[in-house]
Formats: sequence, C-alpha cells, structure tokens
Amino acid sequence: MSGTAVHVCRACDGLITDPADAVAVAHELGNSGPGWTVWAHREHADDVELIDPDLLRIMTRIWAARM
Ligand SMILES: [Zn+2]
Repeated sequence: MSGTAVHVCRACDGLITDPADAVAVAHELGNSGPGWTVWAHREHADDVELIDPDLLRIMTRIWAARM
C-alpha cells in the first residue's frame, strides 16, 4: 500500500492526511475500471450516508477476510 496516497473524507470533504485516521466506508463502481474506495475520517465514518448497504456488507466481509 502506498504511503503517499491521500484520501478525501466523504463526510467533510477534508483530506485525510493520517493513514491511521482513514476508514474505508464504501466502494463505488466506476463506469470503466474497478471503481474506487470511499474514505472517511475515523470520527466521521458514522456520518457518511452509504449508497448501498448491501454492497458495504459484502465489502466489509472482504476487508475482514484480508486482515
Ligand atoms: Zn472528515
């Protein structure tokens, strides 16, 4: 995983500069390509309106399996 990646918080649109503070809250599918992960600050993760709870549940399972 690249240490230079900077994510944008879905909840507050602020940059997440500390990787330890970044929480993946959803995954969106792109029109072309694999899509992208939606990130939020750890404190803001609960504030994000999720687009597809079913998809999140699947992704959460995948993330859990990676750990
Ligand atoms: Zn935020």
